[in-house]
Amino acid sequence: MSAADVTGRLAQAAGSVSKDRLWRRHLEMSRIGATGRGGLNRLALTPEDGQAQALIAGWAAARGYTTTRDAAGNVFIRREGSRPDAPAVMTGSHLDSQPNGGCFDGTYGVLAGFEVLEALDDAGIATPHPIEVVAWMNEEGSRFVPGAMGSAAFTGFLPLQDVLEKKDAAGVTVREALARIDGSTPLAARAPGPPPAAYVEAHIEQGPILESRGDTIGVVTGIQGIRRFAVEVLGEEGHAGTTPRASRKDALSAAVALISALERLTADAEDQVRFTVGRMAVEPNSPNTIPGKVTFSIDLRHPSKDLLARTGDLIHATVSEVAASRRVDAKVQDISFVAPTTFLPLVPEAVRSAASAEGLPHHVLPSGAGHDAMHLSRICPTGMVFIPCLNGRSHTEVESATPEDLFAGARVLARVIAELALQSC
Ligand SMILES: [Zn+2]
Repeated sequence: MSAADVTGRLAQAAGSVSKDRLWRRHLEMSRIGATGRGGLNRLALTPEDGQAQALIAGWAAARGYTTTRDAAGNVFIRREGSRPDAPAVMTGSHLDSQPNGGCFDGTYGVLAGFEVLEALDDAGIATPHPIEVVAWMNEEGSRFVPGAMGSAAFTGFLPLQDVLEKKDAAGVTVREALARIDGSTPLAARAPGPPPAAYVEAHIEQGPILESRGDTIGVVTGIQGIRRFAVEVLGEEGHAGTTPRASRKDALSAAVALISALERLTADAEDQVRFTVGRMAVEPNSPNTIPGKVTFSIDLRHPSKDLLARTGDLIHATVSEVAASRRVDAKVQDISFVAPTTFLPLVPEAVRSAASAEGLPHHVLPSGAGHDAMHLSRICPTGMVFIPCLNGRSHTEVESATPEDLFAGARVLARVIAELALQSC
C-alpha cells in the first residue's frame, strides 16, 4: 500500500468514528454500578463488573467479533486481521471503578477502543494485524491489592498463581471471584498468542494540565515513578490533663512536624514532585490521652528516577533529625520503588501526528497516575492518548468529560490503531 493510500485510510478511519454512538455507549455502560449520585461503584469481578463485560460482549457479538477471557480475568474483544497469526494491535483500559468512582476512568479507554473497531468496519478497512480491545482485570486495586494486576499477570510481571491467591477484605480470592464471574458471564477461554505488536490506551488525564492549557489531546511520553514508605513514630502515652509540655513525648505532634519538614524537603520550584501522606493511624486515639504511637504512609512520585532516588533517600535523614529534636523515636521503612516508565517513541510519535492531522491542540506530558500501559510497555511498544476531564478531577463521582473530547480522543485513537494495524507483518 502506498503512503498516500495509508494516509487516506487513516482519514477514513477517523472520519467513521461516531460521536453519538460513543456517547450513547458511555450512558448505557454507566448505568451498571451507578451510585445514583452520578458516579460509579463497579469493583473488579463483582456481579456489576460481570454485567459490564456481558454488555460489551453483546455489542461485540452483534458485530461479529469474538470475546474471550484469559486465566487472569482479562477480557479481549477481537477483530480479525487478514493475517490471523500476526500479533494483535491492542487497545483498551479497564471497566472496574473505585467505590465512589466516575463514569470515564477506564471505561473511556475500553469504549473508545470498541468505537475504533466499529469505525474501521464502517469505513470498510481491513487490516493485516488483528485488533484486540481489552478490559484489564482489577486496574483500580480497590477490591484486590495491587492495582493493575490483570495486566501484570498478562505481561508476566506478576506470576498468575500469585494473582489468583490475592484476597479482598472479605477473604474472597481472585480465583473464587473469577469462578463466579465465569459462571454468571461465561466467555470462551482465550488461547495463548504472540505478544501484542503494540498497545495504545486512551484515558482521561485525571489531572488539570490539558484543561488549564486549553489542549484537547495529551501525547503521553511515559508514567512517573513512585516510591512508597511507611513511617512509625513512637512517643509516650500520658494524661492529657496532667503532663506538662516539657515532659511530653507526643507522637502525633512530632508526626505533624515531620510531615511539615518532609513537605519542605520535597517542594520544588516547578511543582513536579508529588508528595502525599494519605493514611495515618493514631494510638490509642483517645481525646484525653497523649498519643503514644503514630504510623503514616508516604507516596512520592516524579518522572525522574534520579530525583526519586535522591529525594527519597533524604526522607530517612529528615525523619531522624526531626524525631531527635522532638524526643521521639521514628523509623522509616521503604515499601516499594517503581521506576518511571518511558514509552518507546513509536506510539507517542503516532499519537502526536494523529492529533496534528485532526487539527487538535495537543500537549506532550508524562502520566501522573499509574495505568496498565506501565506493564504493557515491558513487552511491546506502548503509548497513551489523554483527553481533559472537568477540573482535572477523577476517582470521584463528580468526574466528568465532554462528548466532544471523548470524540476527539477516539478519532486520534482510530488513526493510531489503523496506522499500526495496517503495517505489513
Ligand atoms: Zn483508570
